[in-house]
Amino acid sequence: MRIAKVECFQVAWPPRPGSTPLSAWLRIWDEDGRYGLGEASPMFDGYCALTIVARHLSGPLIGADPMDRVVLNERLAHQAIKIGPDGALAAALAAIDIALWDLIGKRLEQPLHKLLGGAWRGAVPFYTSFGHAADLTPDAVVAGVQARLAVEKSSMVKLRISRDRLARDADIPGDLAKARALREALGPDIRLAFDGNNGYSIGGAIRVGRALEALGYLWFEEPVQHYHEAAIGDVARRLDIPIAAGEQSYTLAAFARLIASGVRILQPDVVKMGGITGLRDVQALAHAHGVDVAQHQTQPTVGQAASLQLAAAQLHGWAPLELNDASGHQARVFRRVPVPRDGVFQLPDGPGLGLELDEAALAALTRPVEA
Ligand code: CA
Repeated sequence: MRIAKVECFQVAWPPRPGSTPLSAWLRIWDEDGRYGLGEASPMFDGYCALTIVARHLSGPLIGADPMDRVVLNERLAHQAIKIGPDGALAAALAAIDIALWDLIGKRLEQPLHKLLGGAWRGAVPFYTSFGHAADLTPDAVVAGVQARLAVEKSSMVKLRISRDRLARDADIPGDLAKARALREALGPDIRLAFDGNNGYSIGGAIRVGRALEALGYLWFEEPVQHYHEAAIGDVARRLDIPIAAGEQSYTLAAFARLIASGVRILQPDVVKMGGITGLRDVQALAHAHGVDVAQHQTQPTVGQAASLQLAAAQLHGWAPLELNDASGHQARVFRRVPVPRDGVFQLPDGPGLGLELDEAALAALTRPVEA
């Protein structure tokens, strides 16, 4: 069962506010007509990642055995290392790895979580990830979150403050007013997390973190620029609230540095770094150091399905999955797909990722990415 074809394409979704307009997918086909489905990070529409695969990485895969996925992926990574190891190259390799796992699962007729050693939980809770809050009033934040909770029925909310990536400490009183309003409106039983999106100085982050501690927030995510690992550590050591980071980390070595700096909740993203294999490595690294993994996850289709399998198979996997994109896009192109309902995702028992495509619906939304 050799690899016969690698098909790279974008999926153009009907516009929906706050939702990804274009997903970056690939399919790896074998000689028997089976395929595995993979997804790359949608940054810049995923075009860079898919072009790297189409032009440079797909050729060496043709004729290879999908069961050699680690050897294949490491060879590709090291052939292309001078355009990486971060960013688009990491996303390209992640998509290939996810697709190979899905293909192997289909070949062996086993769900991914079985191949990963079994599931600790058959239903994985999700949390409501509420973004674009920088320009909203506290009342608007509360109203927006309550509207989402009424539908999603989750028991945790993450408030994401994001603005110009060069801004620093732009409105700490305003940010904290929103954090406080949310706690007051939702009461003590809803778990809350706060995402600074790299927007604070060290001193600003410490002020914010102390306020979050008083409000009982569960974690403080990306307080300072992600590339200032020593600064993240400075913040982490001076606060009691755990610091979460890792959505912009692309290698196992980068996660080791985050742990060394003081990060205690790691946030790898399956469509950005490593795919299934890379995230299992991060889970093992976290376990070795006694720190936690709470996957970063923004994509409502393949990435979400892969994250669900990983979360179910994760030792000490207490963290809910992130539900960022509530568009329901996944129902447009899949006959079977995990959907968020009543605060949880049910773990599917189909082979591989447990997804079943509606080919006609997909074809209507597909934009091929050629070499
Ligand atoms: Ca984040």
